[in-house]
Amino acid sequence: MKVKRAAKYGFCSGVRIADLKVKRFAAGGGRGAILGQVVHNERVVQEMENLGVRTVEEIAAVAEPTIVFSAHGVPPSFHSTAKTQGLQVLDTTCKFVYDIHRESKDALGDDYHLVFIGDPRHREVIGYTNDLDPSKYHIVSRIDEAQSIDWKQYPKIKIFYQTTLNAEEFEDVVKVIEGRTDTVERADTICYATKENQDAARVLALDPEVDVIVVIGGKKSANTKHLWEICRESKRAYLVQGGDDLDETWFTGADVVGLTAGSSTPDYVIDEVEARLAAMGSAVPAHP
Ligand code: SF4
Repeated sequence: MKVKRAAKYGFCSGVRIADLKVKRFAAGGGRGAILGQVVHNERVVQEMENLGVRTVEEIAAVAEPTIVFSAHGVPPSFHSTAKTQGLQVLDTTCKFVYDIHRESKDALGDDYHLVFIGDPRHREVIGYTNDLDPSKYHIVSRIDEAQSIDWKQYPKIKIFYQTTLNAEEFEDVVKVIEGRTDTVERADTICYATKENQDAARVLALDPEVDVIVVIGGKKSANTKHLWEICRESKRAYLVQGGDDLDETWFTGADVVGLTAGSSTPDYVIDEVEARLAAMGSAVPAHP
């Protein structure tokens, strides 16, 4: 059994920088708490806890001197709330997320109605919308939601995608909005890192040599789930968080196992899964 990694997988630049910033902070003796998972990967969260930087779900729960804002970003008001509570901020928000904060603010200033395509419970989307007047935006992800809204009342609409989405999956939703009002613009907000991982996963899934695919990532990672969805369109694909989740029976008769990982999956977890696969089937790693 050979293992073939996708041409592009794993940590994106935003997550790599966030991970580094927190590790440097901890190594320098910093004491802090991360608001929400620094990245959506339970292994990384555990690693941070081991370094003394725990995860909390609300600002009020921070007892340490510093609050860490994750790569997904936070509503702007959270910065002032943290300050009011006497907390220092270690901000690891990805610069692409900040670009969307800026672009959506500009669009509001130009009288656009904002539409966010994404999950209203996702921290990134909460970051964009939490502080806004609810009459100024919608969050949609399903076609029935898009059909139920009277878009004609908004002369100008600007559409923003949650960075980690597969835009093609939401084309029908966006088309409904575009068909109901005259001026609809799409902001180019799908993150290149996510897209590169997705494109490489597609190539891996269509590779005739590959029999089955393992996708590695956290339970709450939206981008990992999307990779899995792409892979299973063409091949049997399994989503795992680490080597312990692998089941030997998945690989019965398989000559080549494809491997990819979400953009919040650390390198050492990917290596661990490959090593387990190697142990299961005397794998010969096929990646360079
Ligand atoms: S997926 Fe893209 S937007 Fe999200 S943290 Fe990574 S680089 Fe930033």
